[in-house]
Amino acid sequence: MHELSIAVTILDIVAEEAVKLGECRVVGVHLKLGPLSGVAQEALRGAFEIARENSPYPDAKLLVELVPISISCLTCGATRSVVSMQQLCCSVCGTFTSDIVGGRELEVTALEVE
Ligand SMILES: [Zn+2]
Repeated sequence: MHELSIAVTILDIVAEEAVKLGECRVVGVHLKLGPLSGVAQEALRGAFEIARENSPYPDAKLLVELVPISISCLTCGATRSVVSMQQLCCSVCGTFTSDIVGGRELEVTALEVE
């Protein structure tokens, strides 16, 4: 259960931030998730629901923002989206690149508190 350990790590981060905010009630956790992070959104949601039961934040909802894969295209000289996850080519000019600038995200970006 790879996702469960990630969910526990997320709750650890939440706990750290909640302390900074003065031990408030956490009702939402905003998470950025890229398709290249290796984490499936649905599996993570399920794991988070299990993990939060044993945490101080059983009401915390996981609010996932999916981040598209983006690359730095040398031909265009710009950051572009890709054709597909299997085809890491510039969606504008078709140049293949391994210079991935976005899509690996797995990070807590904000908390919703009461
Ligand atoms: Zn391009």
